[in-house]
Amino acid sequence: ATRIVIIGGGQAGAQALQSLRQGGYAGALTLVGDEAALPYQRPPLSKAYMKGEFTEERLYFRPESWYQDQNIDVILSTRATAIDRANCKVTLAHGGQLDYDALIIATGSRPRTLPAKGADLKGVHDLRDLSDVERIRPNMISGNRMVIVGAGYIGLEAAAVARQMGLDVTVLEMAPRVLARVTSPVMSEFFEHEHRAQGVHILTGARLDHLDGADGQLAAAVLADGTRIEADIALVGIGILPNEELAKDAGIACNNGILVDRDARTSDPRIFAAGDCASRPLVHYGRSGRLESVHNAIEQGKLAAAAILGKPRPTEDCPWFWSDQYDLKLQIAGLSQDYDELVVRGDPADRKFAVFYLRAGTLIAVDAINSPAEFVASKKLIMSGAKLAPDALSDTSTPMKDIAA
Ligand code: FAD
Repeated sequence: ATRIVIIGGGQAGAQALQSLRQGGYAGALTLVGDEAALPYQRPPLSKAYMKGEFTEERLYFRPESWYQDQNIDVILSTRATAIDRANCKVTLAHGGQLDYDALIIATGSRPRTLPAKGADLKGVHDLRDLSDVERIRPNMISGNRMVIVGAGYIGLEAAAVARQMGLDVTVLEMAPRVLARVTSPVMSEFFEHEHRAQGVHILTGARLDHLDGADGQLAAAVLADGTRIEADIALVGIGILPNEELAKDAGIACNNGILVDRDARTSDPRIFAAGDCASRPLVHYGRSGRLESVHNAIEQGKLAAAAILGKPRPTEDCPWFWSDQYDLKLQIAGLSQDYDELVVRGDPADRKFAVFYLRAGTLIAVDAINSPAEFVASKKLIMSGAKLAPDALSDTSTPMKDIAA
């Protein structure tokens, strides 16, 4: 390839840029991104950056000078609106076009919008972009009342930050427990307990009816049972949708994500997709799926770059993720969805424990709280696919590294 275009300047797009140049690609390289900011990391947006303990400068992967030094053409505040596959052109919002020999779609995902009246009131926010946090932060004032709709990782991280900043925080979750979509009842119970101990009001099985406003400004969240929760600010964290429309409209195969092979290649051999927008083979699980994580975006950015440059495919790691809430560091390896056996190592009351998920005697995932050794060893065990005795895992007198050896 002599002209490579990347659409989307997030985690995956930034990684692909770096891997292409590091891999020796010297041809034309263009990044098109619809945000105003240079590529930055999102995890701190619901953690240290939201709390004001992390400077904006540290969010950026690279300073502006890096893009100049690497001879990368960066086009910001501009949306790619169409892909003309027959003529290998990308159309931009203002009508301009870019030619490509290889194209990487790294458009990420967008927050699901709240299907309720009042979702457009002033004071109601998503939490996805730097610009969202700029709008949220002036309201992070001690004594303000915050309602968080959705108890996923982002919602709970924001709850922890807001609580530490002295806000009165209520979390509304429709499911019977927090984190229901992503983890086991043991972990849900642990996090509910922690947040309640910190003074967060957690309402599970809570069906939001609408958000109530006065003069266009949020005033309260009203539940289906009539409960009214006064609020100055609301954060909506009810999941994300892949930005796959650009690919779909161009006739590229999609199914809850742009379908890619192990090299991050789409149904069009010149076009790759990476990150939240892609549905990929999950080689350790014998199925495909979409992942929403930094590790996945980085790995797929590398896979796409390697494939374009004709280099050997980098090793696919087992998926991993993390979440920080208060002084708790949760590290997750693997995908737990299909487990048939659960083993707890350590005591949740010590705030240092791990939950292992097995399927047919094989470790498929771990949730490790303040337990880095359990996390690291589990990554290896998941990738090796070895059979494990549940008793060995729960026996804290046997070091994890011996179990993984
Ligand atoms: P993104 O980083 O979303 O980048 C996509 C970019 O493409 C965006 O800038 C978007 O505006 C742009 N774009 C979209 N469409 C177009 C278009 N048509 N034209 C031009 N540009 C376009 N993951 C973890 O592993 N650990 C964490 O602790 C964690 N915390 C998180 C906290 C928050 C608040 C959020 C929002 C996410 C968090 N994640 C975390 C998830 C992680 O940040 C994402 O999985 C990752 O950013 C995905 O990278 P991406 O490049 O696919 O998408």
